[in-house]
Amino acid sequence: MTSQRTRERLIQRLVDQGISNDAVLDVIRTTPRHLFLDEAMAHRAYEDTALPIGHQQTLSQPYIVARMTELLLAAGPLKNVLEIGTGSGYQTAVLAQLVENVFSVERIRPLQFKAKQRLRQLKLYNIQTKHADGIMGWEDKGPYDGIISTAAPESIPEELLRQLAPDGRLVIPVGGDTQQLQLVIRTSEGFETEIVEAVRFVPLCSGTVK
Ligand code: SAH
Repeated sequence: MTSQRTRERLIQRLVDQGISNDAVLDVIRTTPRHLFLDEAMAHRAYEDTALPIGHQQTLSQPYIVARMTELLLAAGPLKNVLEIGTGSGYQTAVLAQLVENVFSVERIRPLQFKAKQRLRQLKLYNIQTKHADGIMGWEDKGPYDGIISTAAPESIPEELLRQLAPDGRLVIPVGGDTQQLQLVIRTSEGFETEIVEAVRFVPLCSGTVK
């Protein structure tokens, strides 16, 4: 199930779909996605598909994780990255191996707790997690040169834009029934937005869940 061949097949699929950042592909090749899933789901870990993680949430599809990470990194190395929606912690783990520091916020307490444990087991020490509503960002740790949201708001929360550093990059799905992945870059004049592609994410919800 976790054989090298299965993982290589996934990487080839990502390449076929246009993922071209070798550092991103390498990190996905070596990050044990099965450890971010319950045992009953672990055998599907290297399929290119989103998988349930409980609480009506999903671990994002590897292609989407790769695509969002690649977009975030496209202008060069990043120091501080904020992630909204820790979920299983898989995207967090991928990011942590490619940037200096990751700050990740999750609104559902049991998910945040489990992810924190997993990330510590994997000895990824450049990650800080917090149980909070990510709509407010994480102001104390910002500004960020990258922000990634793995849940979709109807429109981009003001706070996330405010916490972007100059030249900072925000990668975020936006919309309701139909969603678009957007890349927003903070420029000296304001914000530049690029629509990347159609996507399907769980909604960004306000408030926290114990
Ligand atoms: N990156 C995750 C994907 C999880 S799905 C992974 O790789 O597993 C999106 C996550 O966003 C869910 O866990 C959901 O609870 C969380 N979420 C939704 N709205 C949020 C908010 N306002 N603040 C923080 N997390 C939120």
